[in-house]
Amino acid sequence: MNAPTRELLKQHVIDPEICIRCNTCEETCPVDAVTHDGNNYVVDASICNHCMDCISPCPTGSIDNWRVVTTPYSLAEQFSWSELPAQEELEAADSGTIEALEQEIEGLLEEARKGLGGKPVAPHSASKPTVNLYNRNKPATATVTGNFRLTEAGAESDVRHIILDFGDLPFPVLEGQSIGIVPPGTTADGKPHLVRLYSVASARDGEKPNAGNLALTVKREPGGVCSNYLCDLPRGAKVEVTGPFGATFLYPNDPAANIIMICTGTGSAPFRAFTERRRRDMPDAPGRLLLFFGARRPEELPYFGPLQKVPEKLLGKHFCYSRVPGQPRTYVQDRIRSEAATVAALLNDPNTHVYVCGLKGMESGVNEAFADVCRGASVDWAALRVTMREAGRYHVETY
Ligand code: FAD
Repeated sequence: MNAPTRELLKQHVIDPEICIRCNTCEETCPVDAVTHDGNNYVVDASICNHCMDCISPCPTGSIDNWRVVTTPYSLAEQFSWSELPAQEELEAADSGTIEALEQEIEGLLEEARKGLGGKPVAPHSASKPTVNLYNRNKPATATVTGNFRLTEAGAESDVRHIILDFGDLPFPVLEGQSIGIVPPGTTADGKPHLVRLYSVASARDGEKPNAGNLALTVKREPGGVCSNYLCDLPRGAKVEVTGPFGATFLYPNDPAANIIMICTGTGSAPFRAFTERRRRDMPDAPGRLLLFFGARRPEELPYFGPLQKVPEKLLGKHFCYSRVPGQPRTYVQDRIRSEAATVAALLNDPNTHVYVCGLKGMESGVNEAFADVCRGASVDWAALRVTMREAGRYHVETY
């Protein structure tokens, strides 16, 4: 006689080892199913309706975890986790039901992605990224081999170029990925500090080719735990690193790919990596690289000096300054509009990829500028953006 099939549920859970507690999921959840304490972000199974709105904004992918259960994990259980529990052993008689649940969740994910304006996917020509190789309980240790100020000495913001060397330890990254930094010490209530994410600013083969190292672009935040820790590190210091993270905001390897890069501040980090990759790997590629880079003043624009030396043939540059005395305030969206003819022609080209990186507020301004540019060229931007996202050609990473 067959064992009776038990009622199974697919429960949405968050991996505490990968989660960086950035609050994005809690802000995104339309039904307030995500909550947190001082330890973990968790999902209330009695509220979660599997709408999937939280999946794509999560910068680490920690949100995309599921357990098939007979009794859902309570909030108290989830708050106490330091790692995800293994999938519980289920009766053989339940296996058909598990498969049905899995298909149902996959279907919901697909539907939700359509509603979000297309599934966020990596460019077709991107290499396959390695993710989550190291975590909080098993971090990689890197040595600081460089820490240079990028902004001028008198400038308000202190942005640094920091080089981390992994020696013989494998730490494979692709342009567009981020790494986690574990700041030492504890919070006021004695808990270990949370991991913070930083975009890789060097090409996949390293800041110095094939030397097992990578670069970061870090802005010192007044009172910030991790940015001050990093910005003050001397050469030779050891740093605990997690990751790599990110599987969609990736450099397209196709030499025909035009890449429009739009950034402010440290959002330039991945674009330094993209440009360096193109320069090293295929300097004569037919695809165009076009950069819109916003800062308050030239002296606060990271990599201002080195960027001047990158030939226009490799990288078209548009610097936009919002606080130069005596000059009108120009933001990246203003320059996108004033370059409407070039931008519209590129957006109409199926080989064009758009990447937006930097401050959280910039996405809507850039989106409106693209809508205006497209309107002028009789193109439906809303529809084009869906097409581009589904083809892995439109990417946003803001923080
Ligand atoms: P935190 O200690 O987390 O504090 C954040 C802010 O809150 C600070 O301004 C601080 O002054 C303020 N604050 C803290 N405590 C208090 C308090 N009690 N009262 C009032 N204010 C307070 N950053 C980069 O510089 N470069 C990058 O390339 C980069 N890439 C990123 C990529 C991704 C995908 C993500 C998600 C983030 C990225 N960040 C990057 C941001 C980075 O992860 C950190 O958030 C940033 O460095 C600030 O961290 P912190 O520990 O210094 O500040």
